[in-house]
Amino acid sequence: MKLLFWLLLGVIVYWALRKQTLHKPAQRSQTKFDPKNLRKTATTPFRPSSAPVENMVECSYCQIYLPASEAIQVKSLSSEHYFCTKEHAKLHSATDKKIFD
Ligand SMILES: [Zn+2]
Repeated sequence: MKLLFWLLLGVIVYWALRKQTLHKPAQRSQTKFDPKNLRKTATTPFRPSSAPVENMVECSYCQIYLPASEAIQVKSLSSEHYFCTKEHAKLHSATDKKIFD
């Protein structure tokens, strides 16, 4: 009976250690320094790997920066404008030159 207890304890310890070592490499790989990425990180500014890469554009009216996907793009013959809101697009067209008809 004593042997069974030690055998069971051994299995539990083995299982616990195995579970711990299985989880560790996944956590380490995220923060691990990779020399292959050195050139890449040296030329491009640092950004978290989880964050999507997106262009930032400036609102032509209030000069606030926002993601290009959220911006309202207005193309005219000579130039291209981005706006944070429809209101700013209308206000800009009213003050600057007529973009909307
Ligand atoms: Zn704006």
